[in-house]
Amino acid sequence: MTINILLFLLGACLGSFFCLVAQRWPQDKSILRPASHCTSCQQALKWRDMIPLLSAVRLGFRCRYCGTPFPYSCFVAEFLCGCLFLLAFPLPFTHEAVVNFIWLVAAFLLALADWFYLILKPKIFYPSLVLLWGGQLFLGHWFHWETLLYCAGILLLLTIFLRGRFGMGDVLLLLSWSPWLELRQFCLLLILASGTGLIAAGARQLWAAHPTRAAASPPHQELPFIPFLATGLWMVLQFGW
Ligand SMILES: [Zn+2]
Repeated sequence: MTINILLFLLGACLGSFFCLVAQRWPQDKSILRPASHCTSCQQALKWRDMIPLLSAVRLGFRCRYCGTPFPYSCFVAEFLCGCLFLLAFPLPFTHEAVVNFIWLVAAFLLALADWFYLILKPKIFYPSLVLLWGGQLFLGHWFHWETLLYCAGILLLLTIFLRGRFGMGDVLLLLSWSPWLELRQFCLLLILASGTGLIAAGARQLWAAHPTRAAASPPHQELPFIPFLATGLWMVLQFGW
């Protein structure tokens, strides 16, 4: 029980750090300076304003100093990263579980950067690619050519028919993941990602359709897809489907 709580807290703390990385790296900003601050009044945050999950709830999702509301995204990221550590942390340690966990954490970070900026950030993508491929080769896992070819075929069709609506970042990411998944797992990942993505798009439409919110929500803003790919990957690896 205690270990579960500790894992969740560790995940929530790292989720907070990942949020900072995903917000700053795509803009080529340092993750060390300036220290965490309110983007509205620029006031540097004290430690009591930065306790993952608790500070946001205690402050009512508003800056302590200027009262400007801050987005829920980091709170959600801290919660989800806590869940990721709770459910997927490699205990007991096996090489396989460690490689899968690193894969999921990298996917989580890429999903966050995509959520904030709608991009696949090379600074995060390429190191994660080296870790994933290096780990899989170290484990001696089978290179699934058939999944890679199937993936390339599907993505070629999608890029032709959904010209401009299917990002190259999503294509690159799926190509890099595909050789390490069985064809069955890859298809399942695509179905789960598309399904959760459609549900989220529908929910957003309903939310934005409300007259009081219609003016505030940006029209036809693109929905990031990597968060849904990461969700699909998590389900496939977590449940061993
Ligand atoms: Zn402020």
